[in-house]
Amino acid sequence: MSRIAFIGLGNMGGPMAANLVKAGHAVRVFDLAPAALEAAATAGAKVATSARDTLDGAEFVISALPASRHVEGLYLGEDGILSDVPDGALLIDCSTIAPEVSRKVAAAAQARGLAMIDAPMSGGIAGAAAGTLTFIVGGSSEALERARPVLQNMGKNIFHMGDAGAGQVAKLCNNMALGVIMAATGEAIALGTAQGLDAKALSDMMAVSTGRSWATEVCNPWPGVLENAPASRGYSGGFGNDLMLKDLGLATEAATASGSPVPLGALARNLYAMNSRAGRGGLDFSSVVKLFAADK
Ligand code: NAD
Repeated sequence: MSRIAFIGLGNMGGPMAANLVKAGHAVRVFDLAPAALEAAATAGAKVATSARDTLDGAEFVISALPASRHVEGLYLGEDGILSDVPDGALLIDCSTIAPEVSRKVAAAAQARGLAMIDAPMSGGIAGAAAGTLTFIVGGSSEALERARPVLQNMGKNIFHMGDAGAGQVAKLCNNMALGVIMAATGEAIALGTAQGLDAKALSDMMAVSTGRSWATEVCNPWPGVLENAPASRGYSGGFGNDLMLKDLGLATEAATASGSPVPLGALARNLYAMNSRAGRGGLDFSSVVKLFAADK
């Protein structure tokens, strides 16, 4: 049993904290949203009055916040908690943020004598609830080994990608490929149907041919092709368009920093921005297919 401070109880953090309680840890939580705190209390977590108030005796501090500015603010901001984290505690940031912000916060933690890993996750809300997330980790091997038992209470797979920030870079590479592939798959199926093909027949063929991918096999963007895909329930649930847009923004910023050409990633970012402008920001990102087939 460990004493764990958990900050950020949203779609991901809420169920993650609940799984830590289930595993027998003493979990002290904080979120700015009262409803999130109520749900965490019902799940058995101890509710704190502020982020700082979660820290009492904490051996692990876990954050699952929306974006870079929230993570930087939490640890390093005017009222940042880094100075009050107990000596010897390990910091685990599970948010998807800019790699350079991860590196900056990890360096500040190190200057204070604290280890930190970036552990952005994959697996979505269902994976968070089921405790089957994949963690994509940056930081020292030693810090990861300390974090491993706690991460295993929330997830199934753990990949160590390198030093601080490397988890974020790897996560952005994966999501950039995913964003491009989803848009390309939607475009192809829209072309096929416009030419008179049946979307399911086309998808079934592609799923065992060279065009196959997660987008054809698991999250097909065309309604009715796969019963359990978001497309077949009005694009509800799944991975939000605006989260994909955020990740592609981070990927293209990282590419600018390293001088890397990412023409498809940049194009995909614009497609998801257009999809958001069309009012589908909160829908699953596979709704990007609607840009190619207006009636779908
Ligand atoms: P969310 O918006 O549902 O939750 C974030 C929570 O953080 C909110 O409850 C908000 O009130 C809280 N918060 C913000 N600032 C705070 C602060 N200073 N102190 C305390 N609480 C604060 O987001 P989410 O879906 O849980 O995602 C969290 C992170 O995980 C994001 O970086 C996201 O990109 C990433 N992620 C999400 C998914 C997904 O499917 N939702 C999948 C993989 C990764």
